[in-house]
Amino acid sequence: MLIVQKYGGTSVGSIERIKAVAEKVAAFRSRGDQVVVVLSAMSGVTNNLTAMAYELQKQPSPREMDMLLSTGEQTTIALLSMALQEMACPARSYTGAQVRILTDNTHMKARIKEIDSEKIRHDLDQGTVVVVAGFQGVDENGEITTLGRGGSDTTAVALAAALKADECQIYTDVDGVYTTDPRVVENARRLDKITFEEMLEMASLGAKVLQIRSVEFAGKYNVPLRVLSSFEDGPGTLIVSEEELMMEMPLISGIAFTRDEAKLSVIGVPDVPGMAFKVFGPISDANIEVDVIVQNIGADQTNDITFTVQKKDAEAAAKILEKTANDMGAKGIRVDDKVAKVSLVGVGMRSHAGIASRMFETLSKEAINIQLITTSEIKVSVVIEEKFLELAVRALHVAFELEKPPA
Ligand code: ASP
Ligand code: MG
Repeated sequence: MLIVQKYGGTSVGSIERIKAVAEKVAAFRSRGDQVVVVLSAMSGVTNNLTAMAYELQKQPSPREMDMLLSTGEQTTIALLSMALQEMACPARSYTGAQVRILTDNTHMKARIKEIDSEKIRHDLDQGTVVVVAGFQGVDENGEITTLGRGGSDTTAVALAAALKADECQIYTDVDGVYTTDPRVVENARRLDKITFEEMLEMASLGAKVLQIRSVEFAGKYNVPLRVLSSFEDGPGTLIVSEEELMMEMPLISGIAFTRDEAKLSVIGVPDVPGMAFKVFGPISDANIEVDVIVQNIGADQTNDITFTVQKKDAEAAAKILEKTANDMGAKGIRVDDKVAKVSLVGVGMRSHAGIASRMFETLSKEAINIQLITTSEIKVSVVIEEKFLELAVRALHVAFELEKPPA
């Protein structure tokens, strides 16, 4: 098998941990696998480098930031190669520029355009383990770029796609993707499999196991992606396309939630064309991301428009909305930042009715008031009062029997 393995910051956080990773990698190679390893910087290093930069300058240039941040990964790849060589396992480390992971020139959030896999293939054919620095690339002018925080996941998936690897394994400090956060629901269950689409929903809703962009990439190129622990053995969670899951598709795969929502409403908006644009134009001009949007016509022929933003943006959004409401002659605005969003996620919903109503029934039994509802093909989300979040997640986990493995 050709496997791309990515080890995150905690997995290479010390010399001891690097030795443990080397042992794991060497074992795969002795089994006959060809292995490409992608590494993060040691945990904390990227943050420390960033902090040092900000001690010197309020706004360090993105180019110099990339020069600086890329050093974290350069350290770990050299150390791992040494550890492997010490075990008589041939290994060679490469920076992004050396492989030639070609990106655009957007420093600090560059996108990969092309990967030259020739050098890597050559090494693999010689039985060498190839160790690549995650998170970094090079633009057309030879400038070092980085892919955004958590970008090593994307490096691994992109390499797996370029090499047509059999599997891309992401080793991290959790042993897989869970039905929901085990810190909230004690008997949350590790999923054996989940689809790319579901994983994207889970990830964007706050289950931060993988960089979202890496999941998009894996889905686009159909790279089987496995999340597993570098600290203990186990099968982890395999993320695959929906076709591959067909026969074993559960109704609901998981419950995602986020406390990071604030709710804003404009009340009494005149019911004429152009009002929604008047409300959201200035919000989007201020670069504020809007999540849920609900509009409702009232008895007096005016609309109430309600939407949610991240908590950090609530104040700025409220200021803008205040002005808009005045300008358009609306009755006023309301702001509530004590809300949370809970979502049921599952591709099985596409072919089953009654999921939403079962969700609402469950919440009603707990006397939890639903403030907003939105749905997509594979998701039902509700916005509720923040203090009921944990209760809601636990009740839904029971109601949808998520603790039990699918039959
Ligand atoms: N070291 C980088 C970060 O902390 C990239 C990564 O670990 O994926 O964001
Ligand atoms: Mg990470």
